[in-house]
Amino acid sequence: MAPQATKTSSFKIGTFGVTVISDGLRTSEKPQETFGTNQTPEAVAELLMANFLPTDKFANGFSPTLVDTGSDVILFDTGMGEGGRAAGAGQLVAGMQAAGYTPDQVTVVVLTHMHGDHIGGLMEGGQPTFKNARYVAGQAEFDFWKDPARAGTPAEGGHKGVLEKVVPLAEKMTFVGDGGEVVSGITGMAAFGHSPGHMIYRIESGGKGLILTADTANHFVLSLQRPDWEVRFDMDKTAAAATRKKVFDMIATDRLPFVGYHMPFPSVGFIETLDQGYRFVPESYQFEL
Ligand SMILES: [Zn+2]
Repeated sequence: MAPQATKTSSFKIGTFGVTVISDGLRTSEKPQETFGTNQTPEAVAELLMANFLPTDKFANGFSPTLVDTGSDVILFDTGMGEGGRAAGAGQLVAGMQAAGYTPDQVTVVVLTHMHGDHIGGLMEGGQPTFKNARYVAGQAEFDFWKDPARAGTPAEGGHKGVLEKVVPLAEKMTFVGDGGEVVSGITGMAAFGHSPGHMIYRIESGGKGLILTADTANHFVLSLQRPDWEVRFDMDKTAAAATRKKVFDMIATDRLPFVGYHMPFPSVGFIETLDQGYRFVPESYQFEL
């Protein structure tokens, strides 16, 4: 497949520049087998139809995000990398360049978690893509994936990916826990469930806020309107559902914008509480006025 067109979206949070970059878009079939594994195909199809979405296919995008604080250029997640390029993804670096950034300008790479669509862009041809960067991740996440005990389990593929993409960079990596700071104004929040050490981030500048929710919700309708529907990619499904409700309750209550890694591009929006879940309200001109 040909590379997908470069898509980027930039806005300000206080004095921080935020640029969301599309790494690509993957189309898959049978939405229920990914986003409603404890539901019937009919129940999932009904909710999709009510939201004007096809019932036999779905699109899943990947949205790494750059935050430019003025003194640091911080990249959150790295997309699919070279492994995704045959399928049209792996467009992060092309997108960064279109937005005016080079990989060498990145001073910090934050990994929200270590699934392949988040760590794939760390290395290119066996060399670090962001050669001047230090790295930040959750300790539990790194420890889980690097552990040789993953061999022979369903996590073996992820383990091998971390050995290839993350372990070579480990000497430049530090770990952040709940409430820990990446740089001034950027704070980690534990959001475990999707993966064992999945972290999300609060960005604060000039009295404005933004939450990067990473994979707390994986589908803008199915995972938000029905937060209890089980998602194939959530490794601890009970914890992931509890985290979804905690995080999106907070975002709704505080009326904060958020970037969701798998929300439809530009992956930025707000949350309204519904009777049994949430409605994704895509951004429009809130950052332009
Ligand atoms: Zn993901």
